[in-house]
Amino acid sequence: MQAIRLLPNNVEKKKKDQGLSSAEARRRMEVYGKNKLATKKKKSWLLLFISQFTDFMVLVLLAATAISMIIGDITEAITILAIVFINALLGFYQEMHTEKIMEAIEKLAAPKAKVIRDNEMREIPAEEVVPGDLTVIEAGDRIPADGVLIMANELQVDESMLTGESMPVRKQVIHNETDTDATFPKNHVYMGCLVTAGTGRAVVTKTGMETEMGKIAHMIQEAEQQDTPLQKRLETLGTYIVIACLVICAIVSLTGIIRGENVFSMLLAGISLAVAAVPEGLPAVVTIALALGVQRMAKRNALVRKLPAVETLGCATVICSDKTGTLTENKMRVVSIYCGRTRYQVTRDDNEENKNRILFQGKPVDPVKMPALNLMALTGILCGNVNIRKVEDEEKISEEYVFLGDPTEVALVRMAVEAGYDPEKIAEEYKRLREIPFDSERKMMSVMCSTPSGDRIIFAKGAPEVILQRCTSIMVANNERKILDYDIKRIEQENTYMAQNALRVIAMAYRIIEKGKSLPSDFEQQLTFLGLAGMMDPPRKEVYDAVEKCKIAGIKPVMITGDHKETAKAVAKELKIIDGNENVLTGNEIESLSDRELKERLKDTAVFARVLPKHKLRLVKAYKEEGYIVAMTGDGVNDAPAVKEADIGVAMGLTGTDVTRQAASMILMDDNFSTIVAAVEEGRNIYNNIRKFIRYLLSCNIGEVLTMFLGMLMGLPVPLLPAQILLVNLVTDGLPAIALSMETGDPDIMKQKPRDPNEHIFSGGLWQLIITRGIFIGVVTLLSFILVFRQSLSLEAARTAALVTLVLSQLIHVFECKSEKKNIFEINLLSNLWLVGAVFTSLSVLACVVYVPALQNVFKTVPLLPEYWLYVAGLCLLPPVISSFFRSKKDEA
Ligand code: ATP
Repeated sequence: MQAIRLLPNNVEKKKKDQGLSSAEARRRMEVYGKNKLATKKKKSWLLLFISQFTDFMVLVLLAATAISMIIGDITEAITILAIVFINALLGFYQEMHTEKIMEAIEKLAAPKAKVIRDNEMREIPAEEVVPGDLTVIEAGDRIPADGVLIMANELQVDESMLTGESMPVRKQVIHNETDTDATFPKNHVYMGCLVTAGTGRAVVTKTGMETEMGKIAHMIQEAEQQDTPLQKRLETLGTYIVIACLVICAIVSLTGIIRGENVFSMLLAGISLAVAAVPEGLPAVVTIALALGVQRMAKRNALVRKLPAVETLGCATVICSDKTGTLTENKMRVVSIYCGRTRYQVTRDDNEENKNRILFQGKPVDPVKMPALNLMALTGILCGNVNIRKVEDEEKISEEYVFLGDPTEVALVRMAVEAGYDPEKIAEEYKRLREIPFDSERKMMSVMCSTPSGDRIIFAKGAPEVILQRCTSIMVANNERKILDYDIKRIEQENTYMAQNALRVIAMAYRIIEKGKSLPSDFEQQLTFLGLAGMMDPPRKEVYDAVEKCKIAGIKPVMITGDHKETAKAVAKELKIIDGNENVLTGNEIESLSDRELKERLKDTAVFARVLPKHKLRLVKAYKEEGYIVAMTGDGVNDAPAVKEADIGVAMGLTGTDVTRQAASMILMDDNFSTIVAAVEEGRNIYNNIRKFIRYLLSCNIGEVLTMFLGMLMGLPVPLLPAQILLVNLVTDGLPAIALSMETGDPDIMKQKPRDPNEHIFSGGLWQLIITRGIFIGVVTLLSFILVFRQSLSLEAARTAALVTLVLSQLIHVFECKSEKKNIFEINLLSNLWLVGAVFTSLSVLACVVYVPALQNVFKTVPLLPEYWLYVAGLCLLPPVISSFFRSKKDEA
């Protein structure tokens, strides 16, 4: 076991700041319960099951069956009831399954909290926070529970959820408790509110329903899961189909009655036909296809928060991505230093003794002996919020540091520590007095510390141009002197040189405020320039392929970064986002362009550098106005508006803030660009699967209705009995349709252009395919009925032949629906084993109905003679053969 010790760096050592022990937290959890708000009660499984019978048509059918029981045909009534029951079981299973998937995904996206437990910082699920816990909060976090601040650094919190006040409120520690009688005192923080700036620590006072948020919990009950645009459109379509079906079924019943058939059996036939024809499974299968897709995406590290995003993903035409961590690994290492007009290399040597050495012209240098380099190392250690832990091995022979925090800051601390600095000692010597945290608007951070001699020292680090603006002097050759234009030019050249080599550059500066002197209002001015640190952040390997895939799929990959223009350009070139000659626009340039000019520049620009969050918002809007469907990533608190505005807002799961996560429709669990591309691929596949089973369900239902309708029009006896119609519905609409929604992806899906979001679900000839196949199925079923009736003069044999033809031609068609491009002879029929299993099950049921004597009685069937089987087989194969012939003719043309 390794012993872990927390160093005092950036952590106050007072008792109350040490947090709870794990054992105490467990004890309190038993007393106070989980830190969560009571949510709406879920539908019980019994209610869910009963709701399967509440569909209008099913109710009518049940009523008709009840009457038929009274009138006499008990076997038929029981058969109908049994089929309705099995159908309900299927529907029930689908809904339960969908709910389980969604629940599991919700759990993955559950909010987290940072707490100090056992004297070390841990990230735990927010619901495990207990009263007395010490929570650590920073900009972008959602406050996990109500608490009192014991430390606050420029802390601002958006409490609009509680107070309605839209401006963030400044929070601070109050020692004399004079201001604590306000409704929401300044030194208190509240569950659910968002930290908009700064950092702080709070001791939790209340959790769960005891919190202020808990008191109003009923008002913020989770919003219902929204329907996707496609679900909404299908709902409207469903209404039309229901009306059309009802009209046709009424005509079928009426024609039969006029022709003198038994009124009640004709009514039952009409209602059964309506139940079979109405694609009541459609919404359920769409939901299950979406839920399965969401589950597949979660497995590929993309968590969908808003269901409509699944559909929109398939339409994305531009993916705007951050650079650091998304396109690159976010594993930074300082490789170059410019300090005192000298360039140093930092080499990594895995030899235990000298891991990270600073070299000048190939020879190691000792930074402690060189004042500017020494101050840069101190800045690296002190001006940041890296958690440094010393890990000892079991025998306490060797020790190693573990760094936790922002990779940029970790790289700087690591460089200093591995060059020989002891962070524990330095943190003791230089006690932190104040911090102005980093934010991507300011692009810098600074801390004020006390020095051993009693002075105060300010360490600042940030983007070179920002730091340089604040410098009035420079440290060269161990001396401080006024900074000259010449120095600035030289620093800028060095910055460009590093950036062109794809390095991320951080400038460092300091200032001393002597003992007794008063603190200037803006102490981040009149700094002394120390130097530049260039760090390497290699591109993620999998992004190379993902970028290529995007381009083939007609999606434009765009880099939007806060980093330097040259660094951005070098990384984008390496990843082939640009070829080298395209424009790179900077935040300043974006500012100088009018909206119209900006839109024009979008076409030939794929990299935006030194961009502020507000520019991201402008870019999203411009892209949208130009007709693009935009996926946009974001992590920082200020990115939330752009993420919200994008068609698909994407938040970072590892480095992102709660605020952005809340605004996003999708969260990347691995912060990886290629995960977005994978999600787009899944989005396209899901949409295709939905089209597949819409094609299947509708063409089959048209076939069923036409069989009955044409039969009646032609003056034939009723081709199928009510129980037979319901059986067809059960064995074709049930399992095979669900199995079709489980189709795995089409390998060519990313070779197609993005879909137009306004495109109709039936576009691309699907409508025609459905109608022609529906007519085909109806006609061949009727033909087999007529042929067998003519030869056998047995109505039962003819109905059995019609039943078998109808089921078989649908079960053949389900395989054709696997692809819109290929015909049945080109499709790999075994690629979806669920489908094979479902078809096999349906065939077995059909065989039982035809050959098991007990079921023959129930369904009024008879075994078919071999020659009738020939008719049936020939007729069932006719539609796929003819359509394959025409398709190949069309392809040739
Ligand atoms: P991306 O937007 O692609 O994630 P980024 O991480 O470079 O890019 P920002 O985090 O906004 O964007 O950083 C902008 C600049 O601020 C960086 O180029 C760097 O010079 C400076 N910077 C980044 N992190 C820190 C930090 N922790 N402290 C001080 N300066 C920093």
